[in-house]
Amino acid sequence: MSIEKVEGLENERPLNFIEEVIEADIAKGNVNIQTRFPPEPNGYLHIGHAKSICLNFGLAQKYGGKCNLRFDDTNPVKEDVEYVDSIKEDVRWLGFEWAGEHYASDYFEQLYEWAEQLITKGKAYVDDQNQEEIRLNRGTVTVPGKNSPWRERSVEENLDLFRRMRAGEFPDGSKTLRAKIDMAHPNMLLRDPIMYRILHAHHHRTGDKWCIYPMYDYAHGESDSIENVTHSICTLEFAVHRPLYEWFIEELGIFPSKQYEFARLNMTYTMMSKRRLLQLVENKVVSGWDDPRMPTISAMRRRGYTAKAIRAFADRVGVAKRDNIIDLGLLEFFVREDLNKSAQRRMAVLDPIKVVITNYPEGKTEMFECVNNPEDESAGKRQVPFTREIYIERDDFMEEPPKKYFRLSPGKEVRLRYSYLIKCDEVVKDADGNIVELHCSYDPDSKNGSSSDGRKVKGVIHWVSAEHAKKAEIRLYNTLFTKESPDDVAEGETFFDYVNPESLVTVEGLLEPSLAEAKAGDKFQFERVGYFCVDSDSNDEKIVFNRTVTLKDSWAKQNK
Ligand code: ATP
Ligand code: MG
Repeated sequence: MSIEKVEGLENERPLNFIEEVIEADIAKGNVNIQTRFPPEPNGYLHIGHAKSICLNFGLAQKYGGKCNLRFDDTNPVKEDVEYVDSIKEDVRWLGFEWAGEHYASDYFEQLYEWAEQLITKGKAYVDDQNQEEIRLNRGTVTVPGKNSPWRERSVEENLDLFRRMRAGEFPDGSKTLRAKIDMAHPNMLLRDPIMYRILHAHHHRTGDKWCIYPMYDYAHGESDSIENVTHSICTLEFAVHRPLYEWFIEELGIFPSKQYEFARLNMTYTMMSKRRLLQLVENKVVSGWDDPRMPTISAMRRRGYTAKAIRAFADRVGVAKRDNIIDLGLLEFFVREDLNKSAQRRMAVLDPIKVVITNYPEGKTEMFECVNNPEDESAGKRQVPFTREIYIERDDFMEEPPKKYFRLSPGKEVRLRYSYLIKCDEVVKDADGNIVELHCSYDPDSKNGSSSDGRKVKGVIHWVSAEHAKKAEIRLYNTLFTKESPDDVAEGETFFDYVNPESLVTVEGLLEPSLAEAKAGDKFQFERVGYFCVDSDSNDEKIVFNRTVTLKDSWAKQNK
């Protein structure tokens, strides 16, 4: 029996649990699939958000539905337009376009009306207890809470007080509106949760119109319902909020959005909390939200990661119901895989040592034709100059090499990529014994890939012509933290204690001349070294490259 290979099928994976739910809903006739991505505009998006974006937009695409971008902007104190703009840019860059752009703050009037409805139904009341009293009277997991002395106010009194809260008659913190559920409920979140608090704060969109703001639990589900969201997907920590989500929707009799939870993305050596990332920015541990060491989408873009690689990563990670930690190497694997296909090859030397080819004519320049990308013929070819003096990588030479060292060493031969075979004749040192220069001779008949007498030379190294080389600042990145779980620190420590002092190492490299024209964002493979991307700090005087990722593929090796 033979199994025929069907094209495309090798990439198929089983449905994840959310897809199963959606397919069952479609089978029942609920076909208008509506999802949303609901960021709070209080920071830049990180790779965890990218996972959520790919999931929400991806499901809408797959099932012919729609996905909204909704800003959950109910907390005026921490939010800002700068963040709104960056979020929109990041979602688009990832390759998605939203059906509708919405703001929870656009629903404030509707949310307010619904709150009055709940008061009228006897399902909400104005509480005069302060925050501390509310906290103390909530009880604990094992001890039931105590009813507020204000819990039995009449509907009229509650309506009057709530209207006056809105009108600005009371100071911050003096009153709240609470849902009237059950102060002994086993789920603490249902012990008369706060729906509104008084906050005389300027909102980035509604200005000073409001001085009462809805809490997340009240605003979120109701916003979903307003937008007819069918599948409201969030992370596991919201599972305990689900009964409350459903309580509000049921009591109001509005569109029955349903909430589904999946495990948030965690990655090794990576911290994913906007609040903590903001601390890194504010304490100048990094240069900004888009510092290429950050796990933000803007940082990854600047570093040279591609949207395609991030999407492939998000898909591969899948949707889990239990928390887990993904190896950072998996993301790098997808970045490498994409750049291998799309990035043009160039030669650059990051730690140069000079080589003088003593039998090569002085003043002569030969042009060698180099293939831009062996994975993509349409990328064409370029000319690279070769001269008597070149630079090679310092660690491509060893004075006393171990066995199986196939690069350059005294008396041994190596091939210069795209060019001649050279042999090391002499090692020139300074007074302190440091190697300053190598004197080599070349085989003029070895130009086309073979030696004149057929002798085998195993090693190939890269080089740049000394006369033509362009200097560049090259930023080499390592993980931002030395600890695999930087969030998880012992008492008395903070994640700041685990910032990697080697997370950024800057070197001056020498580039082949064609790289002088590269523009910010251009991506290359520096042969034998890694993938690099021109940084936005580059200007007419100075070109700056970020190392996107090394060539070493530790993940694939481990997982063979
Ligand atoms: P943070 O704690 O980093 O501030 P958040 O959950 O408060 O994250 P939101 O802006 O509220 O940030 O999140 C928008 C959406 O992204 C939510 O649906 C949230 O569940 C999802 N999300 C946030 N972090 C992750 C993550 N690490 N993995 C998957 N989804 C995430
Ligand atoms: Mg949040």
